[in-house]
Amino acid sequence: MIIGLTGGIASGKSTVARLFGELGVRWVDADDIAREVVAPGEPALKAIVDRYGDTILNREGRLDRSALRDIVFANEKERRWLEATTHPRIRERLTTRLALLQQQDSPYVLLVSPLLFESGQADMVKRKLVVDVAEDVQMERAMARDKIDADQAKAILGSQMPREKRLSLADDVLVNEGDLSALVDAVKALDGRYRAMAGS
Ligand code: ADP
Repeated sequence: MIIGLTGGIASGKSTVARLFGELGVRWVDADDIAREVVAPGEPALKAIVDRYGDTILNREGRLDRSALRDIVFANEKERRWLEATTHPRIRERLTTRLALLQQQDSPYVLLVSPLLFESGQADMVKRKLVVDVAEDVQMERAMARDKIDADQAKAILGSQMPREKRLSLADDVLVNEGDLSALVDAVKALDGRYRAMAGS
């Protein structure tokens, strides 16, 4: 059984994944895989360089992610092209990785993905778990973690799927507005449910 774990910036996805991990649940992060498919030597990186030229690489020959972000942020057609180039490869690699994890000793596995709904990865999972916090808490945690100001945090929040929309697509919601020990308890409760589902 694969559970998809998503949520907005600084909602607590990584923290929740780590807590599931402590209970013996294995997971893969779609962000890590997205980085892997554009690593040096990968066909997607070659396609990107063919399209935008060498200036899209930094001095070490790695993808300059912020330069690429600038291009696609300003241009819908380029964003589509980039997604068409990377998404199938991300998906293929995720499928392989998830299959590998399922062979290991894990009661079920997690696909952690900030873009679970937007990328179509939701159809790879049995249930969709959304980590949810009120926007003021989200802003505060994003600002503290990423050393950004309120305007920057607001801009990122504004570019993401609206909270209500995300919640409407969820099978399960993990509210992360309390302290860490409250979150630990909530994860344990969910883990119990997921183990029962996976076992039946
Ligand atoms: P995401 O992976 O969704 O971007 P993180 O798990 O990195 O979010 O959490 C964002 C920040 O908020 C991190 O600095 C994390 O330590 C902190 N955080 C997460 N959950 C809580 C909580 N319940 N109480 C206090 N801080 C938290």
